[in-house]
Amino acid sequence: MSARATTRRDLESALHKREFEFYYQPKVSMVTGEICGAEALIRWIKSDGTVVLPGAFIPQAESNGFINRLTLSMVKRIIDDIGQINRENKPLPISFNVSAHDFQNRKLVKVLLEGIERGEIIPEQLEIELTETVVLNECPVVIENLNKLKSMGIRLVMDDYCRGFSNLGTLARWPFSTIKIDKSIISQVEASEKELSIVQSSIQMAHNLDLEIVAEGVETESCYRLLQNTGCSVAQGYWISPPLPLNHFLTFLQEGRHWPSQLLGMLHMAQLDHIQWRKAVIDSVYNLGFISDTSTLSWPEAHHTQCRLGKWLYGPGRCFSNTIWFNKLHQSHKDLHQTLSELMVAVDAGQTGKPLVDLMRKLSRQSDLVMQMLHELEHYLVEQRLIREDRIEFEGLAVVSTAR
Ligand code: C2E
Ligand code: CA
Ligand code: CA
Repeated sequence: MSARATTRRDLESALHKREFEFYYQPKVSMVTGEICGAEALIRWIKSDGTVVLPGAFIPQAESNGFINRLTLSMVKRIIDDIGQINRENKPLPISFNVSAHDFQNRKLVKVLLEGIERGEIIPEQLEIELTETVVLNECPVVIENLNKLKSMGIRLVMDDYCRGFSNLGTLARWPFSTIKIDKSIISQVEASEKELSIVQSSIQMAHNLDLEIVAEGVETESCYRLLQNTGCSVAQGYWISPPLPLNHFLTFLQEGRHWPSQLLGMLHMAQLDHIQWRKAVIDSVYNLGFISDTSTLSWPEAHHTQCRLGKWLYGPGRCFSNTIWFNKLHQSHKDLHQTLSELMVAVDAGQTGKPLVDLMRKLSRQSDLVMQMLHELEHYLVEQRLIREDRIEFEGLAVVSTAR
């Protein structure tokens, strides 16, 4: 006999009895090898202890209109859970899933805004995962909701990327900060060249658009390492951990486990970013000869903390901050940006010819120094044999280098 279909009344009763809760699945930074967040996944825990997966009740809740109430109620739950995580651990970004229906009205955004105003939600700690179905029909209220969330500081994750018609070019118009590559494609990357090249090109494009890339459904170490070499930044999947009840998740965090890290790949990305930035400067100056209005020139990012290399250096690259190379790199990189500012002022003032070429030479010398420092950092890592098969000891790196 087949099981009776779940009705709205069943779901209402379960909500009333507080039978819905979140399990948490850790996300690992492939750069540092440490836990960098978690995804909250709903579970229905029946009174007899049976754990019902969302696939067995979320579609019903969506079709019978109950989903909005469920989501609003689970927002309160996640606020409580995050409070507990923060009390027992360092704060971690937590993502939760919302359905396309939750964006058809303004209630969800209102509840989140109220939570932020009351100080219950730290917006930077909350991420919302949604699938492309939310954005496909370009409904005005959906656009308004997404932009509002972004302006509140809540990060938006495009879930199930590569499963449907996802097109990064189109997605770039929406305020997403992260794409999550679907497990159906991740499970194929080791066996299929085609799937691997789809993932590779998605990662490259996402990097150029300044989006973070999460791979979901990482089930083996070899898959983890393959994605890491491809430049993926975050992994989630059974190889790291299945979704865990909150108390188990807290214990898991306290164990302080590590997964393979990849500083070398990170350094190579930083070098590529720097080469692209320098090329953009040259392009701007070169274009001077072809335009009459210099205010239309598109200069690359002028502030040293805001270019790609700067974001890396003062973000993940901070793990090098106790080394002698970090300070040298910081100084040469700052000088380089100062020269770009001088170049922009000179162009604005209508200068051409030798003064500009002299500034370009200065910029090139500083750019060479930046590259040299990045290479030194790379040689240093190799020399110290810190790029191991397992994890890299950041603390060890810091102690050795300051002692020099
Ligand atoms: P999703 O957002 O794509 O979540 C990932 C699913 O993959 C989860 O299934 C997770 O348990 C599973 N998973 C994680 N690692 C692996 C792995 O290594 N291999 C494989 N094969 N699977 C893995 P789950 O928890 O059953 O959730 C299914 C879907 O239900 C989610 O897919 C999401 O779309 C939806 N969902 C979950 N929680 C909520 C919620 O609170 N609200 C709404 N609206 N939807 C939810
Ligand atoms: Ca998800
Ligand atoms: Ca997914």
